[in-house]
Order: sequence, then C-alpha cells, then structure tokens
Amino acid sequence: LRLSEKGCGFGMDEKLGKLGEFGVIDLFRRMVRPARDWVSTGIGDDCAVLKLGGAERLLVTTDMLVEDVHFLRDGISPSQLGWKSMAVNLSDIAAMGGDPAAAFLALGLTPDIDRTFLNALRDGLLDCASRFGVDLLGGDTVASNGGLVLSLTVLGRASSTEVVTRNGAGPGDVVFVGGGVGDSAAGLHLLLGSPGQIDPADRGQLLKAHLEPQPQVELGRLLARNHLVTAMIDVSDGVLQDLGHLCEESQVGADLLADQLPVSGAVRRLALSAGRDPLDWALSGGEDYVLLFCVPSDREAEAIRLCEKELEIQVVPIGTIGKERRIRVRRDGVWTRPEELGYDHFRR
Ligand SMILES: [Mg+2]
Repeated sequence: LRLSEKGCGFGMDEKLGKLGEFGVIDLFRRMVRPARDWVSTGIGDDCAVLKLGGAERLLVTTDMLVEDVHFLRDGISPSQLGWKSMAVNLSDIAAMGGDPAAAFLALGLTPDIDRTFLNALRDGLLDCASRFGVDLLGGDTVASNGGLVLSLTVLGRASSTEVVTRNGAGPGDVVFVGGGVGDSAAGLHLLLGSPGQIDPADRGQLLKAHLEPQPQVELGRLLARNHLVTAMIDVSDGVLQDLGHLCEESQVGADLLADQLPVSGAVRRLALSAGRDPLDWALSGGEDYVLLFCVPSDREAEAIRLCEKELEIQVVPIGTIGKERRIRVRRDGVWTRPEELGYDHFRR
C-alpha cells in the first residue's frame, strides 16, 4: 500500500530504502518463535491464525494508513478514508477464507482535525463494517504531530478445515484473480494529476476503485467453504509481487499469462491517452484488493461455475503454478522474467 506510483514509501531514508518493507518484516520474523502451541500461523501471511477450542480458528490482521504516505488529505474524503481503512483489513481476512467479526481502531489525530471530519470518517468506517457484519469494539486515540494515522486491527473466524494460507500451492494448480486489476493504480495516476484525457464515467470508476475498494469477503468464504483453493492472498502490492509472496511461501514458481489479466476498458483507455502501458498498472500497480488464489487443475471449471452461480463473480485464470522457483510472464506470446520487464517483484 503506497502513494507513489513507484517505490514502497521507504525511499526517503537510504538505510530503510535498502532494507525495504519486507526486509523489516523478515528482521522480526527470523527471531520470532511462538511460545504457545495455539499459534497455527504467525508472521508471513495475510492474517495470524490462532487455535481456539476445537476446530475454531481466530484470524488477526492489522493495517495502518498514514497521511502523505498512503493518502493525501485532499485526495480522499474523510468518509472514503474511513471506508478504505476498514476495507483493506477485511481484504486480509478474506484472503484467509475467513468471516470478519470485530475491529479495533487506533487513531493518531492532528490538531486541525475537527468534529465534522471525524463524523464523516466514522460514518465511512462503520458503513464498511456493517456491510460485512463487523463490530467496532475498541481502540486508542492519541495526538499526532506528523500527520493523520489510522491503524485498524480486525479479528475474524474460520474453521480449521477452511483456513487458507499462502503456502499450499502445488505444481499444476491454476492461478486465478477474483476481479479486475489495474483500476486502483490507474485511479491513483488520476489523483496524482494524469496528463491523460478521460470521460467522467471512466474517471469515476477508477477513482472509486482506488478510494473505496471492495474487499472480496464473500468470494473468500465461498472458496474456503468448498475447499476449492490450495493457497490465497489479496492483491495489495500488485499481481506480480503478491503472486511472488504466495510462491515464496509455497516454495514454488509460476507462469503468468499477462494477456489474460482482466483489465477494464477504463484502464485501457486512460493508459492509451496518457501514454502508459495498461499492463504496468495491472501487474505492479497494487491496491486492487481482489483475491489471487490457486485451484487444483481438475477443479478449475467447478471454481469458475460456482463463483458465477453463487456470487455472479467472474474469476479469471491467469496462469499456472510450476515446480521451478521462478516467475515467468508471457506477453504477446513471448516469455520473459519480470526483471526483464522492469519489475522487481521480490523487492527487498
Ligand atoms: Mg494481504
């Protein structure tokens, strides 16, 4: 999650820039050995998974939005900011196949924030929460000297047989996305002052994708309940990078068919007008918050049919998992490595 179209927000500090977001996570992950036997999954997935009584599993995730790093105060309305802060966390619960239940909000407030702003922020956040059956149960409020900060922690539940982690993908599995990719990055491009010409309907669609993402909670539940997926993640960092995370955890690789990525007409039209490559936004833009998941090849047709029938969602096969631990991308019939296309999906 980041504001700039390139880089992960660590670029300003040379030392952190070298370490990168995932280097920082690794720094902790390497030293953490859970002391309790109730930890089923710890650092390194979309949620932590804790064993409760019997087959019940508790899912926990946390995500923070920081002003001028993840959002500009005049680029998003307070109610959209509230919605988005909840939605990005619910997307992580969805990525585990879970049912979100409760949220805790930590707020760092700057002195210029007034009651009107807070009311709207609250309404957007509670709107998203109630849409997905989530209760806000607590939090913390502090003063911030830097910028506005919202950190949300969300709890969810699933049964042990339903929880989907990132590490179950196997060779031959078909890789799917649960919806269009690239809209959010194209929306960010507009917010940052795109030179491209665009009609109002396209503009509305792209901005909405970036500012009011829709977490695929129902899709995650449906796939998990029917034991259709071997591994799952949500697209927050971009298809290439998130597929890379999933492959790393599963110790596999993937062949990605870039031409099969579902890229909307609005994304293509803006890219054409702005002189950009729509597949750049689709492959590495991020913040789409659609699910990316792996299905055993003999259940591919069943997955497509079920999602269409139950949820009217067109899930799209975009590649296959392979044994060799590398990602290849096919564009216009030519296979290349992401690095050759200018992508550094294992940015560390
Ligand atoms: Mg995630």
